[in-house]
Amino acid sequence: GATLGILGGGQLGQMFVLAARRMGYPVWVLDPDPDCPAAEVANQHLCAAYDDINALQSLADHCAAVTVEFENISAAAMHYLETRIPVRPGSAALAIAQDRAREKSFFRDLGLDTAPFVLLRPGDDLEEAAQDLIFPAIMKTTRFGYDGKGQQPVPAISELVTVWNRLHTQEAILESRIQLLQEFSIILARSVDGMMVFYPAAENIHHHGVLDLSIVPARVSVVLQTQARHYAARIAEALEYVGVLAVEFFVSAEGRLLVNEMAPRPHNSGHYSIDACVGSQFDQQVRALCGLPLADTRLISPVVMMNLLGDLWEAGEPDWQKLLQHPQIKLHLYGKKMARPGRKMGHVNALSTEAERALSVLEALRQDWHWPR
Ligand code: ATP
Ligand code: MG
Ligand code: MG
Repeated sequence: GATLGILGGGQLGQMFVLAARRMGYPVWVLDPDPDCPAAEVANQHLCAAYDDINALQSLADHCAAVTVEFENISAAAMHYLETRIPVRPGSAALAIAQDRAREKSFFRDLGLDTAPFVLLRPGDDLEEAAQDLIFPAIMKTTRFGYDGKGQQPVPAISELVTVWNRLHTQEAILESRIQLLQEFSIILARSVDGMMVFYPAAENIHHHGVLDLSIVPARVSVVLQTQARHYAARIAEALEYVGVLAVEFFVSAEGRLLVNEMAPRPHNSGHYSIDACVGSQFDQQVRALCGLPLADTRLISPVVMMNLLGDLWEAGEPDWQKLLQHPQIKLHLYGKKMARPGRKMGHVNALSTEAERALSVLEALRQDWHWPR
């Protein structure tokens, strides 16, 4: 087939490349890291900055279409590529998703509920801006935050200025801390002709701000799951989105549905789809990018995904024998050379007749590994 391009060569880029190559597409990857996970599986690795004009030109010359594995691509780079070849998703979606303030306002303007929030800018009277907000709150930088990085708790309004100075940012949002009953995500794919398919909701459990487990089927009411699909669909329609879109949701203690954030790409909480669905989220990314019919999102088996973080490597390479004693677990390693605490090194999918059983299997593995959470 025609050559495809992707901006970003982390694990999401790597899994996109593998899915594309299985379908016969050569892939070029642009990523400044010479050791990025996608480099070894790509047909061509352009090792340059994301706004390097020569690299972008080369990508546009060789690729029939381009997608992204993360949202922090400059508007200038996106616009250049868009004048040359199809870029899916496009710059409009990325511009919103890379800026928490725009993203949250966009949700609110669509009539979707979010945690109460205010925008904080340098020179603002911070306490005045936050006077109507309910504390405790969380301050989040508007840009470049992930895995809970760039976030600080603000227990009371009296600590606002101290936290602002500590966060060291141009701009932030301050949002009320919600008493969470549950968290879950919806991943959808939308095609060039506006067709949409939805993956089963994933119930997400975080540990220190990082995704730990995704449980499917989610133990979330059908009413809330249906409402969440409608929310996600409205977001995709409003953006005239083409590609894979992930939307994270909170369920408040009162049982209300709130939108947290979105990701304009496959998502960590959708990795279960690689082993448990007819078509994975990366298959969908290839299909949406190429204007092909979308794949079946049907769940073949209950599944729990568990992230393997660098912490597990503290005493050297984990004991894979112990993992492989559980035949229902599938192992995915990204081939990253350096294991750092909190770094996503891989994930496992545990399949079983019931999600509860899959959870027990992972629990047993953790015990074997002396890796309690
Ligand atoms: P990601 O890695 O998913 O991109 P992120 O760094 O962008 O994460 P968020 O998704 O905003 O950050 O927050 C990370 C986690 O922190 C959430 O999944 C949730 O568990 C918790 N959290 C964030 N905001 C709130 C809030 N307003 N109330 C309660 N918990 C919150
Ligand atoms: Mg995020
Ligand atoms: Mg998040």
